[in-house]
Amino acid sequence: MADTLHDTDLIIIGGGPAGCAAARMAASVGMRSTLVEPDRLCRNLYRIPALNNVLGGYTSGPELADSIVAELKSTELCRLELGRRVTELRADDDQVTVTVDTGARLTAPYAIVATGVGPLQPRDVTWITAPDGLTLPPLWQDDAQGRTLLVLGGDRPIGTFLRANPTTDTRLLVAYPAADAYKIEEIREDPRVILFPVEHLTLDLTEGALVSAEVVGQDGARQTITADAAYLSIGNAPTAPSGDLTRGPDGYCLPADQHPRVIVAGDLRSARFQRIMTALGSGSEAALHAYYAARELLAKG
Ligand SMILES: Cc1cc2nc3c(=O)[nH]c(=O)nc-3n(C[C@H](O)[C@H](O)[C@H](O)COP(=O)(O)OP(=O)(O)OC[C@H]3O[C@@H](n4cnc5c(N)ncnc54)[C@H](O)[C@@H]3O)c2cc1C
Repeated sequence: MADTLHDTDLIIIGGGPAGCAAARMAASVGMRSTLVEPDRLCRNLYRIPALNNVLGGYTSGPELADSIVAELKSTELCRLELGRRVTELRADDDQVTVTVDTGARLTAPYAIVATGVGPLQPRDVTWITAPDGLTLPPLWQDDAQGRTLLVLGGDRPIGTFLRANPTTDTRLLVAYPAADAYKIEEIREDPRVILFPVEHLTLDLTEGALVSAEVVGQDGARQTITADAAYLSIGNAPTAPSGDLTRGPDGYCLPADQHPRVIVAGDLRSARFQRIMTALGSGSEAALHAYYAARELLAKG
């Protein structure tokens, strides 16, 4: 069914659950795909120790990831381009062109974009002042070895971290803005958590030493917090490659707004559907969308 000019029928950008499901579904209907992923396949699933809302009896992210990766590696019609990041996507009437970080270009009749979301950084929010260019890791990357951690923001990964490390004696000093108040309910009673409702926080990372933050509380009171390290739980932002993708005001890429040859799947679609099962389903649907669109074009041609 492929245009003979292309050596693949479908380029899949991103190898999370959505991209992997797209590759499997594409292969099941005889489509050749090329999947580009800068990291390892399902890298985010490997970081989720305790899994929720996934059918099939999987209780840990690595268990599910191992199973998906094994299936993908045995999918002959899918060529994996691991260790490569897509830097640009262009869509024309007859094809899509994808540029990767080596400068190489790939073309195909369709592309599925499933690049997910990444953590917001201190520079992305107004309630934090931090040193220029500072990038902090998300909380889930800590090894939970009995330290005191300053957590910026009250987003839900804190609950995941605490559930995943039920016996850790790590203390979390959670500084959160008023907008996050509703999110911290699930951690409020955990004895390992100390909550700091803040109006503003100024972060100071002195070399080789503790992290220190000057905090103005929501009641106007000022205090200094010190910790062994600082982590993020501010929230996520979509991470789409540059080029011909239509983004909404929030940066998400609604599938209905895209060029007919570009199909968006997984977390990148909207902040509302960020779950593994919805990523798997939308990735599968995206591949079928490309399959039926190609057949329709062939029938017309
Ligand atoms: C701490 C935490 C716990 C979670 N727990 C659960 C849970 O229990 N149950 C649940 O249902 N969901 C959970 N989720 C959400 C779930 O992980 C996501 O909904 C799911 O991983 C989304 O899949 P995706 O394929 O859309 O995106 P991702 O898994 O984010 O995959 C996107 C991939 O695209 C790649 N990529 C990014 N940019 C580029 C580029 N330019 N070129 C090529 N590739 C690129 C990335 O490297 C990444 O591998 C959790 C999330 C977090 C953060």
